[in-house]
Amino acid sequence: MAGNIAIVQCVCPKRHCILALAADLRTVRPIRAIKILQNSVRTMVASGMMNPHCGLCNASISEWGYEVGGTRFETLQEAEPVLRAAEEAQLRSAAYLKNFSNN
Ligand SMILES: [Zn+2]
Repeated sequence: MAGNIAIVQCVCPKRHCILALAADLRTVRPIRAIKILQNSVRTMVASGMMNPHCGLCNASISEWGYEVGGTRFETLQEAEPVLRAAEEAQLRSAAYLKNFSNN
């Protein structure tokens, strides 16, 4: 059963997550949450904060897609510790893969 909190992801064609955000569907519609994430990605790429290619498979920004998925969480407060832990694991994986690819 899905809760009120959705995960909005920007993914490459191989489904590597480029960027994601959590959205409370009681206060924002899914299409609006996608627009917010699209604008964030475009702004970060335009400012040089983000690489316009997937860090794992090199797919370009023109190939990236956006999707909304449900979670079991009812509130952002409930979701935050789990999402932070997932973010930390993603950062560790990315650092490992970057180090691995440099050797
Ligand atoms: Zn990729």
